[in-house]
Amino acid sequence: GLPLAHVDPEVHRVINLEVARQRGTLEMIASENFAPLSVLEAQGSVLTNKYAEGYPGRRYYGGCEHVDTLEQLAIDRARSLFGAEFANVQPHSGAQANSAVMAALLRPGDTFLGLDLAHGGHLTHGMRLTFSGRYFDAVPYHVREDDHLVDMAEVERLAREHRPRLIVAGWSAYPRQLDFAEFRRIADEVGAYLMVDMAHFAGLVAAGLHPSPVPYADVVTSTTHKTLGGPRGGVILARAELAKKLNSGVFPGLQGGPLEHVIAAKAVAFKLAAEPGFRLRQERTLSGARILARRLLAEDGVGVVSGGTDVHLVLVDLRHSELDGKQAEDRLHRVGITVNRNAVPFDHRPPMVASGVRIGTAALAARGFGDADFTEVADIIAVALRPGTDEAALDELATRVAALADRHPLYPELRT
Ligand code: PLP
Repeated sequence: GLPLAHVDPEVHRVINLEVARQRGTLEMIASENFAPLSVLEAQGSVLTNKYAEGYPGRRYYGGCEHVDTLEQLAIDRARSLFGAEFANVQPHSGAQANSAVMAALLRPGDTFLGLDLAHGGHLTHGMRLTFSGRYFDAVPYHVREDDHLVDMAEVERLAREHRPRLIVAGWSAYPRQLDFAEFRRIADEVGAYLMVDMAHFAGLVAAGLHPSPVPYADVVTSTTHKTLGGPRGGVILARAELAKKLNSGVFPGLQGGPLEHVIAAKAVAFKLAAEPGFRLRQERTLSGARILARRLLAEDGVGVVSGGTDVHLVLVDLRHSELDGKQAEDRLHRVGITVNRNAVPFDHRPPMVASGVRIGTAALAARGFGDADFTEVADIIAVALRPGTDEAALDELATRVAALADRHPLYPELRT
């Protein structure tokens, strides 16, 4: 067949524009990363052609001898990387992984506890428009107003009051580590399953730079594309005794044929995450986030949720700034830095505007950024967020952003 540029110039052009955008801007959306070319290559392979409903050795289709080898490799690598007894590498995404676990462990109407979306939880942790909020009785817990840390006393009180079948620990916008042992103690006290959703911090766990939830949780879910830096997808880890339930929760519970091309890319990502270079990159990620938090705390009117960070992201608190989250997001976009606005706990502005921005360092660390670069990035962001910064000053910041992007070429081998 003919190459994409010939078959479909419109799609080809958009892909090239996106390559240019990724190269020319600084990607600081905390849930994003840059998958290496090896991952892109595996994901772009002929494995996309193969149906393989079922699991290695137990498929509903013929011709699965090679995808069996491949999926088993991905499973073994995921188990070894995270020290888990069981892994399912088929969930198409993080939301699918969470839905599959709920489908496997809960009955419709059952109660579970999850961190409130407005306080840093994910949609699938009980937001009312999602599968998790529509089919189950989701009870939200919160962070404390004084220090922005998860209120474990409230978790314990709600657990005793509601006797949930499941407690979900994990977050999308929270800058600190959770106390997995305390979650385990509370879950045991009320006879609940404990699921930890480590979608955001899985890369830090793999690198040994964040406590692992695996020894504490009955089930751990994750995405493979955030700090882990692999293809867009999900994974479930668990104790061996839940294997059957969880496998059938994914297939046929929630999905049909697995995406074996994505599973190949997951296998590559798990291999890379076990290598020493990956740990160095995660160290630069953490160091960059700390540099950013310290720099922003020095600005008048700008706060940082919880007063700092232990992970790959900083939640900028603009409740006391003239600038709101939307304006901050637009300003940063204007100078070439991509972030997302985000509600902060106890936000008084509506969610579409919000009083915060979530800024992550994982993607830039993948691009090779170190402390000196992050110091420059932090200064650019701090100046951009000053209400008085004018258009001329923003132009100057955009020039500094472009210089940083040039210093760290992205996908130099990729021809467009
Ligand atoms: N869980 C958490 C904690 C997340 O932050 C996210 C993504 O934002 C998800 C699950 C969902 O992942 P996906 O977008 O792959 O469905």
